[in-house]
Amino acid sequence: MNYDVVIIGGGPAGLTAGLYASRARLKSLLIEKGLPGGLVTTTEWVENYPGFEEGVQGAELARKMEAQAVKFGLEIIQGAVVDISLNGKIKNITLDDGTRYEAKSIILTTGAHPRLLKIEGEDKFRGKGVSYCATCDGAFYRGRKIAVVGGGDSAVQEAIFLTKFAEIVYVIHRRDKLRSEKILQERAFSNPRIKFIWDSVVEKIAGDDGVSALHISNIKTGEKSVIDVHGIFIYIGYNPNTEFLKGLVDINGDNYITTDENMSTSAPGIFAAGDVRSKPLKQITTAVGEGATAAMSAVKYIEENF
Ligand code: NAP
Repeated sequence: MNYDVVIIGGGPAGLTAGLYASRARLKSLLIEKGLPGGLVTTTEWVENYPGFEEGVQGAELARKMEAQAVKFGLEIIQGAVVDISLNGKIKNITLDDGTRYEAKSIILTTGAHPRLLKIEGEDKFRGKGVSYCATCDGAFYRGRKIAVVGGGDSAVQEAIFLTKFAEIVYVIHRRDKLRSEKILQERAFSNPRIKFIWDSVVEKIAGDDGVSALHISNIKTGEKSVIDVHGIFIYIGYNPNTEFLKGLVDINGDNYITTDENMSTSAPGIFAAGDVRSKPLKQITTAVGEGATAAMSAVKYIEENF
């Protein structure tokens, strides 16, 4: 099947690229491994996306973006891309079930996946107390004690959200300063259900059928302690989804795709946008801007090359 543009990844960058490409009357296909929406769907409440002064549920925002792009002609299918190869200017895209697509241009918006702590018990208790998504799993911990690991926007925002359910949320951070937005810090510091454990790392997640305790080490004093919790939410950043690209486009030392200001990668006709791209600010607002830019760059590339 032939398309003008194939967009790989259905988060805000991909859906916006699809919206702009469809409105430019390119025959456009978006391929998404899971459900459209990307990481936004795992965010309970989004407060910094303009136009929603009271905030908006992450899943709802994603649904609206998807509906808007589809309304203008974007086709969306579910599938995992395993290979991209070049045949002159034509790009061949292969899915894990063997389906193949041809495109004049590709926009890579594959986003990122949660980084793992890589400690004892993390694998064993995944889905049994170890979680990477407060929106998905928070309600299981009503009245319980739980922990969040990390000090960035995700950790602090989700810790605040989790206090809707949990009696106590320990935030375990490896330094004594948070990295998150100041407004989130203010809310967290004034929330009586949040208790900070500073300068500390989790060394082991312990339990029987599910998580029951965390073994913690203070990295300044060397002091070891054990806290009783029923769940641990890990928010220590994300790694980009670039494994399947294998030398197709330039990637930096942290595995993010490098682009110029037009979202062009090192491969002509292949563009990248959103969290998979090397950039200073990873936000929904920046992802949608880049998605629009990538789509318009694809329009220009096709006009000039086909
Ligand atoms: P992040 O900003 O990379 O923060 C990761 C946090 O985890 C940091 O506090 C880091 O500690 C800690 N960390 C990293 N590796 C660790 C390890 N091995 N053990 C223990 N702690 C570790 O990640 P994020 O919070 O997920 O945010 C990702 C991006 O999305 C950011 O650009 C963020 O601004 C954006 N985001 C924005 C919002 C919002 O606007 N409300 C919400 C969510 C995410 P150090 O501080 O010591 O490095």
